[in-house]
Amino acid sequence: MKLRKMLAVLLCGALLCSAAGCALKPASGSDAQMKASAGSGESGSGAKRDGSAADPGSASGSAEQPEEKNPVPVGEKYMAITFDDGPTGNTGGRTERLLDGLKERGVHATFFLCGYRVKDFNSMMNRYLAEGHEVGNHTMDHLRLDTEVSDGGLKQVGDNNDLIASYTGQKPTVMRPTGGAYNDTVIASMKQLGMPIILWNLDTVDWKYRDASSVKQHILDGAQDGAIVLEHDLYETTVEGVLAAIDELQAQGYAFVTVSELAKLKGVTLEPGVVYTDFTEETLHPASAQQTEAGSGTASAAE
Ligand SMILES: [Zn+2]
Repeated sequence: MKLRKMLAVLLCGALLCSAAGCALKPASGSDAQMKASAGSGESGSGAKRDGSAADPGSASGSAEQPEEKNPVPVGEKYMAITFDDGPTGNTGGRTERLLDGLKERGVHATFFLCGYRVKDFNSMMNRYLAEGHEVGNHTMDHLRLDTEVSDGGLKQVGDNNDLIASYTGQKPTVMRPTGGAYNDTVIASMKQLGMPIILWNLDTVDWKYRDASSVKQHILDGAQDGAIVLEHDLYETTVEGVLAAIDELQAQGYAFVTVSELAKLKGVTLEPGVVYTDFTEETLHPASAQQTEAGSGTASAAE
C-alpha cells in the first residue's frame, strides 16, 4: 500500500512535470500556507431538516484485511470533493444515497458534519470511516465563528469533535468554518484544538441553483488537479450532479480522495490553525506555475 501511494505520487509528479515542462520541486508544508479570502458560497442557513427517522443501517464491517480495505484511489490527477452541512436523513435519505454512489465508484470524500444534524441523523455514522471517507467538523450549530461566538469556535468545534467521536470512535482532524468565515481568534482556537482550516477553490453554488446539470457542469468546468470542491449533501440535485461529474472525470483520469489524502499526495503536511483552499500547482508552487505560462509551448493535456 505504501508502495502504491509512492507510485501514485511519482506518477502524478511525472505528469505534472511533463505537462509543465518544469523540474519537479519538493513540496513543503509552508508552501501551502495561504490565507484565502473567505468564499462566499456557503449555504449558511440553507440546512433544512428533512429525511425520515429510521433505525441504523446495516453496515457490518468485517475487517479481514484492514490494510487493504480502503486503499487511496489512484489516478493521474486528484481532487477532493467535500460535503458540508450533513448528515441528511437516516435510512433511505440523501446521505445514504450519496454514500452508496461514492462506494460504487470507488470514491473517497470528506464530510464536514454539523453536530445538530448528527443528533438527528446518525444512522450513517458508522459508514464514513468504514468506506474510506474523512469526517470533518463543521461546528455544532452552524454558527459563524467570526461573529456569532466569542471564543473563536473552541466550544462549537470542540463539542462537535466529541459528539462525532462518540459515533465514529475518532475525533475529526480537519474543520471547515461556517460560511468559510474566520478571523484571528478562530485561527488561534483551531491551533489550540490542533485543527487545520479547510476551505475550497471550487464552489458549484449547489444550494442556490438546486440543479443537477448545473452542479455537474460547474465541477467539470473547474476540475483541476489538487482542487477542493464544495458541495452540500442536503439536496438531491447535488447528489445526482456530483455522481454524474465523477463518472465523467474518472474517465478523464481523475481519482477522488479525501482532503487529508490529497494533502499527503501533494506533499503537504496539514498544520493546525492554517487555512488551506486547495493543493493545485499554482497554489503550491506559484513561481513555477508562472514560469510555465511564460515558458515553452508544451500544452497540458488536461486543458
Ligand atoms: Zn455550512
